[in-house]
Amino acid sequence: MERRFKGIAASPGIEIGKAVFRKSPKPRFTYQFLLNKSDVKKELDRFKRAVDQVKKEIKDVKSGLGHNPPLKEIKPILDTYLIVLSDPIFFKATLRRIKEEKINAEWALMKTVEDIEGIFGKIEDEYIKQRVQDIRYIAKKIFGFLGSTTNTTISSSGNILIADELSPTEATKLPTKQIGAFVTETGGLTSHTAIVAQALKLPAVVGVKGISQEVKNGDMVIVDGQRGIVIVNPNPDTLRQYKQRQRHYSLLCKELEHYINITAHTLDGKILRVMANVELFEEIPSVLEMGAEGIGLFRTEFFYLQHNELPNEEALYNYFKKVVKAIYPYPVTFRTLDFGGDKLSSYLHSGKEINPALGLRAIRLCLTQRDIFCTQLRAILRASQHGNVRLLFPLISSLEEIQETKQILISLKEGLEKEACKPFTPIPLGIMVEVPSAVAIIDLLVQEVDFISIGTNDLIQYALAIDRNNEQVAYLYQPLHPAVLRMLKQITDTAHQRGITVSVCGEMARDPIYTPLLVGLGIDEISLNVQNIPIIKKLICSLSFKEAQVLVKELLTFKTVQEIKRFYLQHIKFWFKNLEELFSQDEFENLEEKYGKTIEESCLHE
Ligand code: PEP
Ligand code: MG
Repeated sequence: MERRFKGIAASPGIEIGKAVFRKSPKPRFTYQFLLNKSDVKKELDRFKRAVDQVKKEIKDVKSGLGHNPPLKEIKPILDTYLIVLSDPIFFKATLRRIKEEKINAEWALMKTVEDIEGIFGKIEDEYIKQRVQDIRYIAKKIFGFLGSTTNTTISSSGNILIADELSPTEATKLPTKQIGAFVTETGGLTSHTAIVAQALKLPAVVGVKGISQEVKNGDMVIVDGQRGIVIVNPNPDTLRQYKQRQRHYSLLCKELEHYINITAHTLDGKILRVMANVELFEEIPSVLEMGAEGIGLFRTEFFYLQHNELPNEEALYNYFKKVVKAIYPYPVTFRTLDFGGDKLSSYLHSGKEINPALGLRAIRLCLTQRDIFCTQLRAILRASQHGNVRLLFPLISSLEEIQETKQILISLKEGLEKEACKPFTPIPLGIMVEVPSAVAIIDLLVQEVDFISIGTNDLIQYALAIDRNNEQVAYLYQPLHPAVLRMLKQITDTAHQRGITVSVCGEMARDPIYTPLLVGLGIDEISLNVQNIPIIKKLICSLSFKEAQVLVKELLTFKTVQEIKRFYLQHIKFWFKNLEELFSQDEFENLEEKYGKTIEESCLHE
C-alpha cells in the first residue's frame, strides 16, 4: 500500500529506487565515580585522546575532499567542528567536570551536551538552533572513540538511504555511485546535513519523523526533494507521474544552466538584477557559480554570532574586505547589525524583553550601543575602499533614525579621511523598509537614501501583526494580503518617483510564486538564497513586464486575500506552464488544497 510522508525539502531533485537502511547506534555507557587521582588522570587523558582522534578523522575527511568544487562548501562545516572540539564550553567544560565531579568521560560529556542543548533550546533563530545538531554529532564521534558505540555500515544494495540521522562527514563518505538520495528523521532546512546534500547534488528530505520504523530494506521509495515528500511503495499511477516529473526536472536543470550566465530581463526588455542573500563569507563561491550579480543582502550579524566576544574593528575590517574583494566587481550590500529580535548574542547585554520583536533590535540597538555600531561602520567604510559596497540599515521606522545614522556616518568618514589623508569614495546608502511606519512616511525617507530594500519577512510580520516564527498563526502570514500589496505598490512607486532603485530581499523574492507580482510592481532588484537564482531568472525571462503590470493593477482592485489568490493563481498557471517542479513551497500546496484544481493539473491540460 502506498504511504506518503511529509518532511523538509532539504535538497532538490527526484529519485526513485530501493530503500537501504542505516541506523546509527545509541552510545552505551554507565555512570562511574572515580575514586582516586590516578583514575581521574586516566579519564582526562582518555577524553583528550578521543577528542584528538575525532580531530584527526575530521582533518582526514577535509584533505580527502581535495579541490572538488561542489565539496569545497563542506570544508567550512568541518572547520566549525574543529572549532567546537576546542571550544571551552565543550572541551574545557568536560575536562572540568571529570576533575571536579570525579566522573567518567562519557558521563561528563553527556552532561556538557545537555547543558549546551539547554542554551540552544532558548534560541529562536532556526539557523543557530540547528547548530545543536553539530554538537550532538561531535559528541557521538567522541563516544565512538571512547568505545561507547560501534560504527555502522550500509549493508544492502538499495539506492535510497533511510537513516535516523546523517552527519555531514558521514554524508561526504556516502558511496554516491550507489546512493542517489537520502531521507533522515532529524535535521532542518538549515542543518549542515541539508547543506551537504545540496553540495553533493543528492535529493534529500530531512526531518521525516518515524520514517525508519515505516520502511523496510528493499521497499520501493520515491524521494521528492523539491516538495519534501517521501512516498513508500507507490502505486503505479504515482510511479508513472513521478517518472515523468523526474524527466521534466532533469530537462529543467539542463535548461537552467543557460540562465546562470545572463542578466535577467523580461520578454519586453525590462531588466531585473538578481542578487544573493548571504550570511557568511564561505557562501561567496556559490554566489558566483549560481549567477548572482552581487550580494543584495549581507546579514553581517552572522559573523558576530560565530564569536564568543565582540569582534574588534580590525577583525571586522579584514572580514569585510575579504568579502568585498571576493565579489568584486559586483557590489556587496552590507546590512548593519540586525541583532535583537530572534537573533541574540551573549555579549550584547540588551536585557530581557517580553516582546523582543518589538524591542531593542537592529538600528535601535545600534543607536543605543553606539560603540558597537561605530566600530562596525568604520570597518565597513574602510573595506568599501577595496571594491563596490552599499550600506543598508535595518528596521528604520522614523526619519530621525536615518538622519541620526547618517550624521554618525559622516563624522566617522571624516575621521577616517583625516587618518588616511585622502578622501573616501562615497558609498550608496539604503534602508530596509520592513516596518509599516516606514511605508507611511516613505515619501520622506526616499529623500534621505540612494536605494530602498524591502524586507518582506518583517514587513508582513509587522503589517499583519503575525509573529513570523509562530507556527500557530502561520496561516495568517499572507504575502498576498491586500494591505501588503498596497504597501509594496506605495513603496515602489514613491521610490521610482524619486528616481531611486527598489530591491526586495525577503523570502518573497525567493519564492517563484511571487516573481510575476514583483515584476509587475516594477521592482528593480531582488535578492534571494543562491539555490533559486537560476530558476527565478528563467521565470523573469519568460514574463512580459506589460502583462505583469496589468495583472498587478487588477490584483489591487480586489478586497480579500482569497480573491487575490484565486485571480493570481489563474494567471500564473498559464504563464508558468510545465514548470510545476518549481512549486515546492508549502504556500503553494496550501493554495492547491484550497482551490481544488492543482496548478499541475491545469498545466497538464494545456
Ligand atoms: C526581511 O525582514 O525580509 C529580511 C530580509 O530581513 P531578516 O529576514 O534578516 O529579518
Ligand atoms: Mg528583517
